[in-house]
Amino acid sequence: MNDYQHILLAVDYSEHDGTVAQKAKALARKYQARLSIIHVLDNIPMPDTAYGTVIPLDQDSGYGLLETEKAQLMQTADELGVDCAHRWLVWGVPHQEIVSIAEREKVDLIVLGSHGRHGLALLLGSTANSVLHDAKCDVMAVRLQGDES
Ligand code: AMP
Repeated sequence: MNDYQHILLAVDYSEHDGTVAQKAKALARKYQARLSIIHVLDNIPMPDTAYGTVIPLDQDSGYGLLETEKAQLMQTADELGVDCAHRWLVWGVPHQEIVSIAEREKVDLIVLGSHGRHGLALLLGSTANSVLHDAKCDVMAVRLQGDES
């Protein structure tokens, strides 16, 4: 098996994200891989913004909700030591943008959380399931503790 060279961590700021982030960091260290991070904006209104738009991180938009999301991403990226060029804040549908950035940036491993859904929720799908289905690279879905049932 080849070593991974570029790992993409997907974060949604759920209470469990720390576990996923630490796993991604440990993998990046183990493989001496580049670590990138992505957060997809899917819960705030962004008028006149097309899906897939990458939001600049170095300009103040003056839009409070967006600046809050940006600050969270920057803080997590700082804690993980992700350099500025590999931080992605994108407006759109999470699984689509995660897969799109992974392809564009030649990522060879995506790391995200799995909420261990069963039954109807599993049939309806989730970000983790959709990324697993659509990504051309490897995907690690980190089973989140307390979500087994
Ligand atoms: P979900 O399947 O929606 O419960 O989310 C599972 C995992 O997908 C999360 O733990 C994150 O790693 C990732 N994820 C979900 N939503 C987003 C988002 N908006 N931006 C980036 N990653 C996300």
